[in-house]
Amino acid sequence: MNDAAPTLLLCSETDDLSGLCGEFERAAARACPGLRVLCWTPDTATTELQSVVAIAGWFVPLGLPARLPRLRLLASIGAGVEHLLRDPDLPPDLPVTRIVDPAQARGMAEYVLWAALHFHRDLDRLLAQQTRREWRMPAQRPASAYRVGIMGLGAMGAEVARTLAAHGFDVHGWSRRPATLPGVTTWAGPEAMCPFLAELDMVVSLLPLTPETRGLFNADWFAALKPGAVFVNCGRGEQLVVPALQDALRSGHLRSAVLDVFEHEPLPADDPLWAEPGVLITPHMASSASAEVIAGQIVENTARVLVGQAPLHAVDRQRGY
Ligand code: NDP
Repeated sequence: MNDAAPTLLLCSETDDLSGLCGEFERAAARACPGLRVLCWTPDTATTELQSVVAIAGWFVPLGLPARLPRLRLLASIGAGVEHLLRDPDLPPDLPVTRIVDPAQARGMAEYVLWAALHFHRDLDRLLAQQTRREWRMPAQRPASAYRVGIMGLGAMGAEVARTLAAHGFDVHGWSRRPATLPGVTTWAGPEAMCPFLAELDMVVSLLPLTPETRGLFNADWFAALKPGAVFVNCGRGEQLVVPALQDALRSGHLRSAVLDVFEHEPLPADDPLWAEPGVLITPHMASSASAEVIAGQIVENTARVLVGQAPLHAVDRQRGY
């Protein structure tokens, strides 16, 4: 069976990836002729898996990569990789890659620009006024008087920061290592967190989920924000301590929260966050890459590893992103 055609396995325990099969087959025909595409199910026979050279996945069953003798690539079908790195038995030198897509970053910039305009132009207050049939013009300020902080200045965060700066906002960015971005005031590392947060009108998280960022948005973190700030979470739900958010909202310290990501997705219908005053929920739709881009990048990387080249967009497994 080890002589069988190299196989790319589409695999997730939590999502049905069969809809991506056709796109991967077309990408394979273009960029990696002879590559077979197989969609994993819990019933996929072990013999079928012996020819797998690449996994394109989301929540891949724990221990599966370690059982595949020809595996050379573990590729996330999204921008994040935390669900792949949770496997303690990953072969040590197996490259793990992610999707990096400028169009996805532009989509993220649209989403955050919408949120910034919504609160900067007081649409939350105006919508409340409308329910009371109240005609009252809010004071108008220039965008430069509205300070937005972006946590994470990677593929997503940098594009978001550039877009907000181009619209005149006072943009600040925070990352692990020092960064330079035209028109953006940058801060780096845990010691800069408090001064970075202190004067923000809105803070947007675009951080990957790692051991350092899990539970980062806790009571102390919310206390470090300026009263009346808005919190936007586009990173991962596990970074937010929900009771801390609820306390910050209920005390009036936080003006509002826009949440696109949650620890459990889809957010269960009985989750109290749906009805929490001041919370705006979107269903993990801030931005996604197209199926064509996902399949194209992963098949190209499969072709690269099959001829001994390093794949593109590999993450640092130690760092976690
Ligand atoms: P990147 O890996 O390109 O960038 C990550 C950024 O986060 C880097 O600037 C990095 O700093 C910074 N960072 C990581 N850890 C820390 C830390 N401990 N302290 C300070 N800064 C840190 O990722 P992307 O921009 O592509 O994506 C970021 C995340 O956004 C994804 O992992 C995913 O969770 C989320 N996402 C959500 C989407 C949605 O629709 N809601 C869509 C796409 C992504 P440094 O530059 O110093 O390394």
